[in-house]
Amino acid sequence: MQDPHGIRDAFTEHFGVRPRLIVRAPGRVNLIGEHTDYNEGFVFPIAIDRETFVAARSRPDHTIRTYTTQFGQEDSFDIGHIERSSDKPWANYVRGIVKGILARDLPITGADILIRSDVPLGSGLSSSASLEVAVGYAVQLLNNINLLGEELALLAQGAENSFVGVQCGIMDQFISTFGRADHALLIDCRDLSYRPLPIPPDVRVVVCNSGVHHNLGNSEYNQRRAACSEAVRLLRARLPRISTLRDVSSADLMANADLLPPTILMRARHVVTENQRTLDAAAALERADLVAFGKLMNASHTSMRDDYQISVLEIDLLTELARAVPGCYGARLTGGGFGGSTVNLVTISAIDRFVAEVAAGYKAETGRETDILVCRPSEGVSRVTAA
Ligand code: ADP
Ligand code: MG
Repeated sequence: MQDPHGIRDAFTEHFGVRPRLIVRAPGRVNLIGEHTDYNEGFVFPIAIDRETFVAARSRPDHTIRTYTTQFGQEDSFDIGHIERSSDKPWANYVRGIVKGILARDLPITGADILIRSDVPLGSGLSSSASLEVAVGYAVQLLNNINLLGEELALLAQGAENSFVGVQCGIMDQFISTFGRADHALLIDCRDLSYRPLPIPPDVRVVVCNSGVHHNLGNSEYNQRRAACSEAVRLLRARLPRISTLRDVSSADLMANADLLPPTILMRARHVVTENQRTLDAAAALERADLVAFGKLMNASHTSMRDDYQISVLEIDLLTELARAVPGCYGARLTGGGFGGSTVNLVTISAIDRFVAEVAAGYKAETGRETDILVCRPSEGVSRVTAA
C-alpha cells in the first residue's frame, strides 16, 4: 500500500489545508472469463494491491478543484454547470462521478480533491475504475451520502459510460468496490451476485504487460459484441427462450451450429465455452486444484486466440514463455485484447525465475521490455486513516 501520510502531505502542500479524509480503491485483473460480461456470463477477477488514493476536504462554495499527481495538473469546475473537459480527459472521470451523484438528486458541496495512484494507466489493470470508485466514495463521505456497494459500482460505471464515453461493463467497478483480500470473486454478470473464493497463500497472480496496444481494439470490440448479438438472433430460430449467449450451452450451440455463419459460430463458441471454463475454474479453486485452474487459463487463451481472434503475437509469446517456467500453472491474455497484458498464476518459489526468464525471453524475441507486476488479491474500496 502507498503511504497515506505521503498523500496527506501532498494534499496539504497543494491546497494549504489538511484533508478531512483519505480513501483508496484498487485496480483489478481478471483471472478468467473474458468477453463474457456483456453476454451476461461469468467473470472471475481479483482486486490488486495497486490502488488509487484520494484525499479530500469540503469547500464552503460550489467549486470542485481536483489535482492529480499523475499529470501534475489541476481541474476546477462549478457543481451547477458540469461539462466535459476537452483539454484534460482525466478530469472527466471526476466530473462524471459528481454529475452522477447530482443526477440522483443528492445535494453536495464543493470540495478539494487530490488523486495519487500506483495503478499503471492504460495497462488493462483498470486505473480508470479505481479512480472512479475512489472519487465516488470520497465525495459521498464528505457529504454524508450512502450510495454504497452495488450502487457505488453502478455510479462509477455510469460515469465512464455516459460521461467519459467508454462502454465498459460493470466488472471493473464491481471488483474495485467488493474485492476481498486473498480472494477472487466469481461474479454473475446477469444479476451481479458473487461468490468470494480463496486464492491459496503460496501463489501469486502475475501480470505481464506486452507494451503493445493496437488502436483497432475499440472497433474490434464493437464487432465482437455485434457478433454475439447476431449469434443470439440466429439461434433464436430454434432456441426461442434465449436472451443472451449466457443461456446457451455447448451442446445447444453444437446442435444448432448450422444456423450460424462460420465466423459467428467461432465467436459464440468462445463465449459459451468461456462461461463453462469460468465456472469450472471456480470449482477447481474451491478444491485448491491449481493445476486444473491453470489448464483452464491456458484453454481460455487458446479460445481467445483461435475462436475470438483477439490475441497478437507478442501476447502469445508471453504466454508461451510463461508456461515454460516450472511453477507457472497457467497463462492467458487478460482484458480486451489486441495487445495489453497477460495474467499468470505462479507459485511463490518460482516468482524470481519467472520474472527473469519471461523478461529476458520477451526482450530477445521482440526487442521490447515487459513490465511485470506481482500482485496479491486485495480489499475493495475503503477509508484510510492517516494520523
Ligand atoms: P485502464 O483503466 O486500463 O488503466 P483506461 O484507458 O480505461 O485504462 O483509463 C486510463 C485513464 O484513466 C487515464 O488516461 C486517465 O485519464 C484516467 N486516470 C487513471 N488514473 C488516473 C490518475 N491517477 N490521475 C488522473 N487520471 C487518471
Ligand atoms: Mg479502464
